[in-house]
Amino acid sequence: MRIPFVAGNWKMNLTRTEAVALAKKLAETPPTGSVEVAVCPAFVYLLPVAQTIGNSHVRLGAQDVYFQAKGAFTGEISCGMLLDVGCEYAIIGHSERRHVIGESDELVNAKLKATVASGLKPILCVGEKMEQRDAGKTKQVVKDQLQKGLAGLSADDLSLLVIAYEPVWAIGTGRTATPDQAQEVHDMIRSWLGENFGKDFARQVRIQYGGSVTAANAADLMAQKDVDGALVGGASLKADEFLKIIDAAGRAGS
Ligand code: PEP
Repeated sequence: MRIPFVAGNWKMNLTRTEAVALAKKLAETPPTGSVEVAVCPAFVYLLPVAQTIGNSHVRLGAQDVYFQAKGAFTGEISCGMLLDVGCEYAIIGHSERRHVIGESDELVNAKLKATVASGLKPILCVGEKMEQRDAGKTKQVVKDQLQKGLAGLSADDLSLLVIAYEPVWAIGTGRTATPDQAQEVHDMIRSWLGENFGKDFARQVRIQYGGSVTAANAADLMAQKDVDGALVGGASLKADEFLKIIDAAGRAGS
């Protein structure tokens, strides 16, 4: 039984005061049912948010990480630094990093290797653009991202891996994949993991869906057999909305 995992990606949003207030509300509201919850604030707010969530059920994640441990890498943040401020998770290969900032699959792979070596739990994002879906290339694109992102790593290395299937056309657009569309790709991802890392490994990996998840569509998405929670952007910025999504995941997991 996989416990659903709901993570809020706050992106480059919120002030420090807002981030702390949101974290406080979430920490004060334990979920009903079985669900893991994390928030991923901007780097500069990791520490105040860590102090706010304390030992509550809410876990801390970063939106990105660099693969080098230390040195002359201006502006970058290492796995050790993230662990030092209380992070448990790091999002890797988010579509905004891939398509806005220009990160390659090779860089994603280097980040993944550094993350698992450090003990941080990676949330690897994969997903196709609209034109790739229209051209019937969704599965090929996602398989390619998995193959390149996970290259050189074993099932043992990846025991802490979480995957987020996030179709690029659904992120921040209000256009969600239908539950069937999500399930079809999640099923393909799990089969691919089974073929490449073994069936036992594939069975236990959590695969989140991301892309305009809201309180209104969360339950239907999470009712799908291979949808194990959500990576939530916009709707994670409003406590009430995010709590309803967490609740839907908790009901799906119980
Ligand atoms: C995301 O940031 O990963 C995301 C899925 O955003 P949104 O929920 O706003 O589409």
